[in-house]
Amino acid sequence: MHTHDYDAIIIGGGPAGSTAGAYLAREGLRVLIVEKERFPRFHIGESVMPVSNAILRETGVWEKVERAGFVRKHGAEFHVSNKSVLPKHVEFAKGLIPGLDYTFQAERAPFDQILLEHAAELGCEVRQETKVTAVKALGKAGYEVTLLPGTEGGTPQRATGAFLVDASGRDTLFTKPIKTAAVNPALAKRVAIYAHFGHVPRPPGKAGGNIVIIRNADGWAWFIPLSGERASVGVIVRTETMRAAKLKPEALFWKIVGESAKLSTLLADAVPEGKYHVTADYNYRARAFAAPRMLLVGDAACFLDPMFSTGVFLALLSAKFAAAEITAASKAGRALGFWAQRRYTRRLGANVGTLERMVLAFYDNRSFSVFMERNAPLRIAPAINALVAGHSDPPWKVRWRYWMFLLVCRVQRLHAIVPNVDFSTRSVGEGTEFAGVAGPKNPHPRLRSAKSAGCHESSRPDQMVTAGGTPQGSYEAN
Ligand SMILES: Cc1cc2nc3c(=O)[nH]c(=O)nc-3n(C[C@H](O)[C@H](O)[C@H](O)COP(=O)(O)OP(=O)(O)OC[C@H]3O[C@@H](n4cnc5c(N)ncnc54)[C@H](O)[C@@H]3O)c2cc1C
Repeated sequence: MHTHDYDAIIIGGGPAGSTAGAYLAREGLRVLIVEKERFPRFHIGESVMPVSNAILRETGVWEKVERAGFVRKHGAEFHVSNKSVLPKHVEFAKGLIPGLDYTFQAERAPFDQILLEHAAELGCEVRQETKVTAVKALGKAGYEVTLLPGTEGGTPQRATGAFLVDASGRDTLFTKPIKTAAVNPALAKRVAIYAHFGHVPRPPGKAGGNIVIIRNADGWAWFIPLSGERASVGVIVRTETMRAAKLKPEALFWKIVGESAKLSTLLADAVPEGKYHVTADYNYRARAFAAPRMLLVGDAACFLDPMFSTGVFLALLSAKFAAAEITAASKAGRALGFWAQRRYTRRLGANVGTLERMVLAFYDNRSFSVFMERNAPLRIAPAINALVAGHSDPPWKVRWRYWMFLLVCRVQRLHAIVPNVDFSTRSVGEGTEFAGVAGPKNPHPRLRSAKSAGCHESSRPDQMVTAGGTPQGSYEAN
């Protein structure tokens, strides 16, 4: 019989890895979490979905998150960049499912650290600044991983585990054999440009904690208020738009901000904190999320366009499902059988699918028009509210309304039941004079500075350009 150093080795200490570790440690399993960075570290993805609260409560970390002073998120606002329709406000407390009143806009550096430290408190061994550099299957008995401690020059070490959990995020380094990614063509080929900003006063009251989503003809933008007059702001554009714009990412970011009255107002005095980041080519899903002794969790399993802030929730949910499968198999002294692997893949896939259909509806202009409709019959709006709160496996009273919503979206594509949102017009509000169209009468101050700093040239820093010609990476703001 094989004796392992650990019952489970988890690669990555983000929300997926630390939550899987927490669940497993609570069941008495010996767990090693390996994290290549030293926490706290920057990570994008601050807006949490309210359904995540239940998982945070189950692992026992909720009180620590509540005490951390994150901005409370009571809802979401959806705007159209040119103001051609009225904004839609989603207040979680008014959804069809009670008990999801608020969650947090959790700045990821402290949030991820709280979760990782909690996993350690529950008994996980956590090794930070240690990179998993190789994984070797021990026949059917588990895995041996090679660990490289320190930023450079460390001596490689080895550890064996009966189960391996890939929670390495978008790196998805060691799961290629079972990760033949399926990309939904409607969602692929987009680029996110984002940064944190200071000098961003939060609107007063509960609504000041809302995530603000602004849809434009090409993509969308987010505004997430963080504590201390700070905010996370990003824009999502098609890859070809970015190439055609011949602008540096920062300049394109400010151009899109300038085209939205809402964003221009929110960011009137904003000052970037350090780097602008660029992430390209997201949206993928492994065809299978489990092998006999390996499970993919969080972004290592799949990545969905972040417009509904699904990432952290799916990380926590997949960690919960994966930990349940590992615990059962481990206690029975066996690997995951065919049905257990399939169950994990199907269960997680079904939850992802529910949210993915919402994302697709958001990108389709006609379906988006249905989404923005404020007077939908049959209480469809509060049902969609529950979906925006993250109910990816909703009860019947939400589910049939969700299917009704999708049906109406289909009909809308053939015959307009509600007026279609018109993205072609320019808005009449403040801060919308950026141009290209009629010339910048009053461009946003950051756009002026980006232009004067030469940011509109087509040349980009070398390290930001991938083989496919899509820029990505991070660089210092002007
Ligand atoms: C532009 C953008 C905006 C987003 N906005 C939101 C949002 O508002 N709300 C939301 O919920 N989600 C959002 N997301 C998604 C969210 O960031 C992720 O879904 C979430 O971080 C997934 O958690 P994870 O634990 O799977 O991965 P991660 O949080 O990425 O953690 C993976 C960890 O693994 C470590 N690691 C990687 N390789 C190794 C290795 N070889 N050895 C050791 N450690 C390793 C990494 O250092 C990292 O800490 C957004 C994503 C993007 C790209």
